[in-house]
Amino acid sequence: MIVVSGPGGVGKGTVVQALRRRHPDLAVSISATTRPRRPGEVDGEHYHFVDRRTFLDMVERGEFLEWAEFNGNLYGTPWSSIADAVADGQVVVLEIDVQGAASVRRREEEVGDVEATLVFIDPPSWEALEDRLRHRGSEDEDSIAARLRIGRLEMDQASAFDHRVLNDTVDAAVSRLDRILAGTPQA
Ligand code: 5GP
Repeated sequence: MIVVSGPGGVGKGTVVQALRRRHPDLAVSISATTRPRRPGEVDGEHYHFVDRRTFLDMVERGEFLEWAEFNGNLYGTPWSSIADAVADGQVVVLEIDVQGAASVRRREEEVGDVEATLVFIDPPSWEALEDRLRHRGSEDEDSIAARLRIGRLEMDQASAFDHRVLNDTVDAAVSRLDRILAGTPQA
């Protein structure tokens, strides 16, 4: 499997979408989340939207490959969303936050039932990321400060990844990811 991660606001979702267009055979996991649905999002397509209780029950039952709390909401990769693809020998792409990527790496090392290539998507510069974070969602100064703080912590994790991909343009980033994918074992 290939884990695509990086700081919030870096555009990893857009990069993964473009990668899927180039490789329709890639399996993409659908995460569960407690975050409220945004306009245009479809349950079971973008995410499985669940309440906190349901999510924590799933944690309890060991239904997640990994899960993390991000900005007050819970996000996790259900085994059920990747099991079929893994059994079929497809390459699975996970687009998750940096804590989730670290959990996958731990699981790989400690349990050994997954094999993952970890890719960190880099912004063109800290200033570019800061700009994205400042103009996302709420303009409340406290939450902007929190976003920036989280962004710095996320950037500090980059060295733990197997590869780094610069997202200067989506096309260039996808081509770099493509080359990594060519060397990624299945499942
Ligand atoms: P958003 O709320 O903007 O859709 O996602 C917020 C963050 O959660 C993003 O960094 C996204 O990559 C991450 N995320 C989405 N699904 C998962 C998941 O299953 N596990 C983890 N750890 N992070 C996730």
